[in-house]
Order: sequence, then structure tokens, then C-alpha cells
Amino acid sequence: MDKTIAIIGGGPAGLMAAEKLAELGHAVTVYEAMPTVARKFLLAGKSGLNLTHAEAYERFVDRYGAAAKRLRAALDAFPPEALRRWADALGAETFVGTSGRVFPNAMKASPLLRAWLGRLAGLGVDIRTRHRWAGFDGDRLRIASPKGEISLLPAATLLALGGASWPRLGSDAAWVPWLAMRGVVIRPIHPANCGFDVDWSASFRARYAGAPLKSVELSSEGGTSRGEFVVSTHGVEGSLVYGHSAAVRDALEKGSPEPLTIDLQPDRTLDRLQNDLARQPPKASFSNRLRKGAALDGVKAALLREIAPDIARETPEAISRLIKRLPLPVLRPRPLAEAISTAGGVAWSELDEKFMVKSAPGLFVAGEMIDWEAPTGGYLLSACFASGARAADGIDSWLSTQ
Ligand SMILES: Cc1cc2nc3c(=O)[nH]c(=O)nc-3n(C[C@H](O)[C@H](O)[C@H](O)COP(=O)(O)OP(=O)(O)OC[C@H]3O[C@@H](n4cnc5c(N)ncnc54)[C@H](O)[C@@H]3O)c2cc1C
Repeated sequence: MDKTIAIIGGGPAGLMAAEKLAELGHAVTVYEAMPTVARKFLLAGKSGLNLTHAEAYERFVDRYGAAAKRLRAALDAFPPEALRRWADALGAETFVGTSGRVFPNAMKASPLLRAWLGRLAGLGVDIRTRHRWAGFDGDRLRIASPKGEISLLPAATLLALGGASWPRLGSDAAWVPWLAMRGVVIRPIHPANCGFDVDWSASFRARYAGAPLKSVELSSEGGTSRGEFVVSTHGVEGSLVYGHSAAVRDALEKGSPEPLTIDLQPDRTLDRLQNDLARQPPKASFSNRLRKGAALDGVKAALLREIAPDIARETPEAISRLIKRLPLPVLRPRPLAEAISTAGGVAWSELDEKFMVKSAPGLFVAGEMIDWEAPTGGYLLSACFASGARAADGIDSWLSTQ
């Protein structure tokens, strides 16, 4: 057996584990399938790298829903403040943006990643790109490399292979059957933080695809929140929708009749809308009545007509009700390949408190490949970093008992 620890997957979770283990004096090799590491992390930086969140810690932990209890120890040991200090020390000082989201000043991931890889090199971490884990051969790992297949028996192994969204960046969930064959329970993988299909009419799609709906409120079984989303060619997308995606996905699976509703005019009460609409001259066009009585035009007015084509004939009361609670006819989540993240993965029942696979001593997992999900807002990266650090701690403790 090799004395080296093998980390498979060079994303945020794997690289964080590599850093912690190397700092503890272990020899670490990272095997990464792609020609370069952390491609999804770099992509995340394209739209502003939201590293973590600055809200009250208890609220922060709650964002992990059912998995909060299992992630708690990892997050306690590497909370948002520690993550910010870590980024600061790499020269990527952070700031708290609107709504508490934390970003590096540069907004991008590339300067931080460059400094991080420099630190890892300084610690002696060996990163081998174009080395793809190809499953088990008994207890050994099969690695496909440019020079042919390598067979490894590392001192300990961390799988940090990511979820299944954006597979062209490397995380393609090819690992699912390999772990399942070892008897590891994998919870079904679903898109998370995703858009939804809506069967728009051709005219609505042609005119409004790409149009943002600003200052609206969406409601689902997950609650009510205000913000902005976008009409897309296929349906709806954007951060406000992503925040409801877990609840909407589950509601669709249950066959709920109204998984997602929209309040097009959240600043006006039903009574006010009703009175203002009732005051409009009956002979005025519906567009004018809507604009003057409810301050709705453009894509908001068009959405109302798209979903309720006969609305012009309705009473002010019925129109107001629809403005305040318009059911969005979402059909299904957009494909996993387009999602920001993945729900499902290695079941918690399979893992001990430091993320070792109970049935395979010495084999650990971290990051998005474990069965947790969270909204956007820095929660995804926070848990990936924290679980990588926690698994490193687990590997160190486990090796000390061998
Ligand atoms: C468009 C987009 C924007 C995002 N923005 C944010 C954001 O602002 N804030 C936030 O918190 N989160 C964001 N995320 C989510 C975040 O990037 C992921 O949750 C995070 O990268 C997951 O980290 P990970 O280390 O678990 O897996 P990954 O980052 O997916 O890394 C896994 C690595 O394993 C490698 N790998 C997979 N299989 C093998 C194999 N068989 N052999 C060897 N290597 C393998 C992959 O190539 C990859 O490099 C965003 C995601 C997307 C898609």
C-alpha cells in the first residue's frame, strides 16, 4: 500500500481537503479527470463568485434543510467567517453584497484559484490532471491516465467528484454505479437550483423570451419570496425561481395542482387592486384598464393574458385575484445538465460523522456528491469547502488509528 492519500476530483471540496491534509504533513495526490482543475468553480465566478453568506449563523445552517443536522459539525468547524479569512489570506478579500451574499472583491474565481494552486504547490500537493478514476478493482482504484491505466492502493481515498450538473465541466456522475456496486446507497439524483419548462404559446415566446419580471413574489410550498426571474424560451429561470426549485420539483412529483404561483403586484393589496380596476371606464381597452388600474404592462400584462386568455371578460374582483395569485403552469424541471447544482447523491446513512463510507473504511466522500441541497447564495460552495475540510480531518484521524 502507498502512503499517499488519493483525492479524486479537483473541485473546491477536493482541493480544500488536499490543503488541510498537506498542512497536517500528509503526502497528497489529487487526480482530476479534466485537463485543468476546478472548472465549475471558475464558471461560478463568471456571474460573480458568491463564496458564502453573512446572515446570522443559525439561519445560514437552516438553509441546508433536511441535511443541516448532518452538515452542522463541518460548518461549525469551517463557518462563513473562517471561509472569508481563508479567501482573504489568499489575497481574495471579500465584501458583503446586497442581501448578505459574500463575494471576493474581484468577483471572479480565477485570481483566488491561481493563488490557491500556488499555495497547494508550496505544500507539496501533487495534482495530476487528465487522470480519470474509472472505478474499483477490488480495493484498488483504477485510474485512466494518458499513459494507460494505473492501479492504486492509497493509504486513504477521498472522492470529491461533484454532482451531475454541467457535465462538460467534469462532474458527470459516472461514479454512481461504481459506488452502488459496492453496496453504497445513492439517493436519486435530481436537478437543483434549476429552471422549469412552461409550454408558452409561440407568440408569447417569440415576444418575451429573455424578458425579466422584476419586483414580483413567487410562492410555493417552500414559502414566498420577492425578486426577479426571467421568461426563457423553454419556461422560467433565474434566482427567484431557483430558490423555489426544490419545493416545486417535489410538488410536481406529488402532482400538486399549483406548484408555483406569482404575485404580479406584491405592493398592492387585493382590495386596492379591485377598487382601482373597478374605477376604470368599462369601454377602455383591457390593456389600458390594467395599466391604469393595476400598474401592469409589458411582460407582466402579457403573462396574465398568456395564462388566463379570457381574463379581459372577468370582473375586477377575479382579475385582482389572478394578479395576486397567478398559477405558473410549470411542467417539469429543466434538464440536469443545465442546473446550478444537484440534489441527491451518497446517502447520509452510508457515512460516519466525518464522511467516511461506513462499509469501506478508508474511503471518504465530500462536496456536492453527498445527498444535500441548498439554495444559491453561497451555500453550495460553503458546504463543499466545509465538507472537504471535515473529510480531511476524518482521514487524518482514521490514519492515526491504522
Ligand atoms: C453556473 C454555475 C454557477 C455557480 N455559482 C455558484 C456560486 O456563486 N456560489 C456557490 O456557492 N455555488 C455556485 N455554484 C455551485 C458550485 O460551483 C458547486 O456546488 C461546487 O463547484 C461543487 O464542488 P465539488 O468540489 O463538490 O464538485 P465540482 O466542483 O463539480 O468538482 C468535482 C471535480 O471532480 C472531477 N471529476 C469528476 N469525476 C471524476 C473522475 N471520475 N475522475 C477524476 N476526476 C473526476 C471533475 O472534473 C471536477 O473537477 C455554481 C454552479 C454553476 C453550474
